[in-house]
Amino acid sequence: MIVQRKKLSLLERLYLPALAGGFKVTWRHFANTLFKGHTAGKELSGGYYPEKKWVVGEGYRGAPYLVRDPEGRTKCVSCQLCEFVCPPKAIKITPPGPQGSPEVGNVEKAPQEFEINMLRCIFCGFCQEVCPEEAIFLQNDYSLNAESREELIYNKEKLLSLGGVHQDKIWKWKNK
Ligand code: SF4
Ligand code: SF4
Repeated sequence: MIVQRKKLSLLERLYLPALAGGFKVTWRHFANTLFKGHTAGKELSGGYYPEKKWVVGEGYRGAPYLVRDPEGRTKCVSCQLCEFVCPPKAIKITPPGPQGSPEVGNVEKAPQEFEINMLRCIFCGFCQEVCPEEAIFLQNDYSLNAESREELIYNKEKLLSLGGVHQDKIWKWKNK
């Protein structure tokens, strides 16, 4: 089937109606900013984004962070599955080597370093889904800011401090 293209009128070929439509939106936002003190967007209770942040629902898939078990130990065992599946290659893990690290008790393979480049991360959730230890979870943060690109490469300490404690039902590593 051949679809016939509508012939544009002279006015349409000058793009003036489209330009006027665009300017109308720009001026409306400009006037709102000038006289009402806010830009476009839905008002959140008590203000506008970014001063006021959205409260996202439970299960929201924001930035991925590492979690600790209820005894404060790193749950990650450096299996590197998340690093392998991560589509944009945002994860970089430095495993501890065969000796492990004595301060982590039975978790003999806690990573030496674990980095997530938040500039690359697309919040897909593959790392959370593939993790056999439930050590990484996508949490509520959807707006990450920094003054340099380096600041958005989160290291292990930062990921653990943001991730907090995961209340496991089964304490896999608990001594018997
Ligand atoms: S959420 Fe997706 S893109 Fe981000 S670190 Fe995990 S696997 Fe990689
Ligand atoms: S976060 Fe999970 S999947 Fe990634 S290395 Fe650690 S244990 Fe493996």
